[in-house]
Amino acid sequence: MILTDSHTHSFFSHDGKAPREDMARAAREKGLRRLYQTEHFDAYTDGGTKRIRYFEETIFSAPPLKDPPVELPLSIELGEMGEAPEESRELLSRHPYEFVLGALHHLRGEKGFLSRDYSSDGECRLLFERYLYELLIAAEETEYDSLAHMDYPLRYFYAKRGLLLRLEDYPEEVEAILGVLIKRGKALELNTAALRKGYPALMTGTVKRFREMGGKYVTVGSDAHAPVDLAAHFDEAERSLREAGFTHYAVYRKRKPVLIPLSGEETGLTGPKTE
Ligand SMILES: [Zn+2]
Ligand SMILES: [Zn+2]
Repeated sequence: MILTDSHTHSFFSHDGKAPREDMARAAREKGLRRLYQTEHFDAYTDGGTKRIRYFEETIFSAPPLKDPPVELPLSIELGEMGEAPEESRELLSRHPYEFVLGALHHLRGEKGFLSRDYSSDGECRLLFERYLYELLIAAEETEYDSLAHMDYPLRYFYAKRGLLLRLEDYPEEVEAILGVLIKRGKALELNTAALRKGYPALMTGTVKRFREMGGKYVTVGSDAHAPVDLAAHFDEAERSLREAGFTHYAVYRKRKPVLIPLSGEETGLTGPKTE
């Protein structure tokens, strides 16, 4: 059993649907031990300084939750990994983050994959090749712990055009990115929102390739923006990890990976964080 949801959002994210305390309570009700509230930091969209100010005035001005029902390690999702490295670094240096997700929600100078239109299948393929290239550069050059939803654009190609592309269709590009993660000791994220958004499969083949190449750390996240979606499809995620040959998943403490058995047994990591 996977008892950690490593990728979630609350009202502190522009698209969050619930207060963080509701997300924490729902996590407890679902039997989770810890919840990473990886609020969006999208410096490109908002301008880095403005976004930092927003974080300071909201997240870091809010009183900490009293007696949190689950562990809530301080975490963040950098949604434009390559674009605002200085602003991202500045924010990370100001606060004791325990876990940092790196993600690409849009290509440079383009609208986000979620909100843009796709006029042809060929356009999707071209955009995806650009995405994998920009992701490779970002994976190599920027600061993060786990690479979020590598399959992100595919769900929108499928939902908006019915085009089913797979990461396995791009073995060289994908292996180049996985190689960077392994070289830098970074984690790969298995993001279950793909299924929730209607895409037919998790990226099991890529997780398997990651392991074959020497990858050690996989984080698992639902990308829930509302309590109902917390830990959604975690059974499938566990099956996917086992099929790929993994016996553990990773969580992060002070930006360092800790491996937890998929059996759900946890030693030295149990209980809400009290410090
Ligand atoms: Zn994301
Ligand atoms: Zn997210």
